[in-house]
Amino acid sequence: MALRLALVGLGKIARDEHLPAIAGDPRFDLIATVDPHAKLDGVVAYRDLAALIAAGGVDAVAICTPPAVRHALAREAIGAGLHVLLEKPPAATVATAHELAALASAHGVSAFAAWHSRAAGGVAAAAAWLEHRHVGSVRIEWREDIRRWHPGQDWILERDGFGVFDPAINAFSILTALIPGAISVEAAMLTMPANREAPVAADIALRCADGVPVQVGLDFLQTGAQTWTIAFATDAGEGMLVDGGTRFVDPDGAVASDLGGEYPRLYARFADLIESGASEVDARPLALVEDVLRAGIRQTGDPFTF
Ligand code: NAP
Repeated sequence: MALRLALVGLGKIARDEHLPAIAGDPRFDLIATVDPHAKLDGVVAYRDLAALIAAGGVDAVAICTPPAVRHALAREAIGAGLHVLLEKPPAATVATAHELAALASAHGVSAFAAWHSRAAGGVAAAAAWLEHRHVGSVRIEWREDIRRWHPGQDWILERDGFGVFDPAINAFSILTALIPGAISVEAAMLTMPANREAPVAADIALRCADGVPVQVGLDFLQTGAQTWTIAFATDAGEGMLVDGGTRFVDPDGAVASDLGGEYPRLYARFADLIESGASEVDARPLALVEDVLRAGIRQTGDPFTF
């Protein structure tokens, strides 16, 4: 029998990616949504998670709210014996993400921190290519227009919204998947709009455990061409992940890409975890964001309005 799933937080990502992925996966059956205002035609809608839990008849939830409320919702769901898929980041802090993993284990349910960019079409090819190369340095450029991709999402510039690190954590999720060991922060300059709590730009120097330097340039106010690239300079030339990990381009210009879809792969993984009674909550990308925010020097930028 398919797992009875409810979507919690029916916003942009739930509609763009989760709904089609769930519809295409026979192991899940969407039975309800939970959102303070939004609903779908033909699907039972609840205003809050407590109402869903009280009604029963659900096995799992996918929590697609802004991160500030995710930990409390996940605790409530796990406490009610539900499996949880957590949109990225899995919680607003590393400590609370770890707590969710422990809680899931105690309640015998699966928790899955779904880092969607790790499932992007070029990442597996990049991993295979890097396996036989010596990396000398890494350069990350994540430059996008907040007004184009996140119109009106004021939560993203609140403290627990992470500002430019909302998209940049996707780059960190790929980096931490491809480069083993701890990554430390050597320097960071953060630009904070005068009227907001989270940065809109950052220049960061990281250092991998084996000494490899990582330069990171982030901008949330990038108009015109949008850039989401990770370039690996190696002893065999430069390999580059482009378009958020969707494609990998090797030094000869050969392109590897698997357009099967990030979110279908996430739901397949979630179903596998549930089937095997396991959890997967990797908080390393979030830890890197926490470290950068702690170490970063802040400069005040222009006030921001959408
Ligand atoms: P969004 O469009 O603002 O949607 C969030 C939804 O969650 C809203 O409908 C909101 O309702 C609802 N919500 C808030 N509190 C809730 C609660 N306690 N219970 C149930 N629903 C609640 O945000 P989004 O862009 O989809 O982003 C959501 C998450 O997905 C973020 O963590 C983001 O990093 C991640 N993500 C986003 C994208 C993207 O391209 N947008 C891509 C990948 C991952 P109200 O508006 O009424 O508060």
